Amino acid sequence: MELNQVTEILIEFRDRRNWRKYHTPKNLAVSVAIEVGELLELFQWKSDAEIEELLRDENYRNRVGEEIGDVLIYLLTLAHECDIDIEKAIMEKIRKNEEKYPV
Ligand SMILES: [Mg+2]
Repeated sequence: MELNQVTEILIEFRDRRNWRKYHTPKNLAVSVAIEVGELLELFQWKSDAEIEELLRDENYRNRVGEEIGDVLIYLLTLAHECDIDIEKAIMEKIRKNEEKYPV
């Protein structure tokens, strides 16, 4: 599934619940930061080795996946509300990075 298709599903989910009024760019950007905080909480105070060990546990990995999902959901919704084609934005950024950091 492509990112634009995922965005369509998210927007339909949101609009059917009448939540668009809450989804201003500022509120969505704040929500991205909060979800990144929740992701970081899972790694807080743990060493890289401890995290590597924890990631072998399915329950922990599911929790990490859930927070990554939350971050992406808000990012995709934010891009949609800002009328940004996220796939195009990512590809353009990769192209710029290739120029900036030649092999
Ligand atoms: Mg969360």
